[in-house]
Amino acid sequence: MAQDRQIVHVDMDAFYASVEEFDNPGLVGKAVIVGGDPKQRGVVSAASYEARKFGVHSAMPMSQAVRLCPDAIVLPVRMKRYVELSKQIHAIFQKFTPQIEPISLDEAFLDVTGSLRLFGCVEEIGKEIKKQIKEQLGLVASVGIAANKFLAKLASDLDKPDGFVVITEQDKQRVLDPLGVSRIWGVGPVTQKALKSIGIDTIKQLREAPTEILQGIFGDQMAHVLRLAHGADDREVESGREAKSISSEQTFATDITDKDILLDVLLSQVEDVAQRLRLNDLEAKTITLKLRYDDFRTITRSNTFDHPTNVTKTLWRGAREVFLKWHKKSPGALRLLGFGASGLQKTDAGQRQLFPEPEDEKQKRLDKAFDRIRGKFGRDILRRGK
Ligand SMILES: [Mg+2]
Repeated sequence: MAQDRQIVHVDMDAFYASVEEFDNPGLVGKAVIVGGDPKQRGVVSAASYEARKFGVHSAMPMSQAVRLCPDAIVLPVRMKRYVELSKQIHAIFQKFTPQIEPISLDEAFLDVTGSLRLFGCVEEIGKEIKKQIKEQLGLVASVGIAANKFLAKLASDLDKPDGFVVITEQDKQRVLDPLGVSRIWGVGPVTQKALKSIGIDTIKQLREAPTEILQGIFGDQMAHVLRLAHGADDREVESGREAKSISSEQTFATDITDKDILLDVLLSQVEDVAQRLRLNDLEAKTITLKLRYDDFRTITRSNTFDHPTNVTKTLWRGAREVFLKWHKKSPGALRLLGFGASGLQKTDAGQRQLFPEPEDEKQKRLDKAFDRIRGKFGRDILRRGK
């Protein structure tokens, strides 16, 4: 019989906020919010668990966050530092397997099937990763282990923060069955409501429902949803050697319709992605906005530049244009917004423009100055106008 796959999902707890606490131990146990300036329409990028108790969550306008939690310590985003630590976390992963699929700065899937002989069992690997992250970087990760990505990610979320959950093949149905149907990828509030109206709340009820009824709700997605409900998922851990894209996305705790708030969120995402491009000496040819409506319909809208770039202003101009076009045609309440840059190449890989635009050169100098100052004082010490 073929060896079952062993997947580890690692998700750092309140990553940006935890890094700030690590760098400044006086903050530990306090309500820490990382994000933009409340006076400049900034948004929350991360909140410590202490701050979350007050209802603060990421992508919330900062002004609202400080109203909910007036004693919170608000800190600017220090992307350079988070990227640095993310690389160190990645280096720990690499000791255990080359099969790593990073999802974001603070989250990754690892396929450790091929590493078992070297390290013993998968639980040992998961524990060791968690331990090394804690000992070497002072940060807390939640780890989920299972035979596939869907269950591994579910596992890492079941006991957050500081979680360590293993879902075995024998166990999986017992773990899944009592959970709500929203745990299944692709089951959003609208589908959830439709299921509830026919008495289906849990994964067990879903799995046992007559297929004719489910067909009406899920259409051609039914087989996929049922596979997940049985804990089956055959997607591989994709470990491209080079990142194919750099992106930033946020799921909102409550759906957002307000155009200005969405633009604020988008601007902070563009700034983060642009800086990560520059930190990695990369330029992007294509930008993509990911928009998920309140009914979980997800669309992407892209734009391609004539020349690859990592200039914040150029990326922002492109992102804003794509956003406004979308907003004019098909606006709606969003539960997720994301910005990604792809078509990546090394800064000096492509042909340089023969006659660089003076405006472009000026912007590059400006970005450099921004990065330097932000490296020292944090992102929002300087903020561009929209
Ligand atoms: Mg996380």
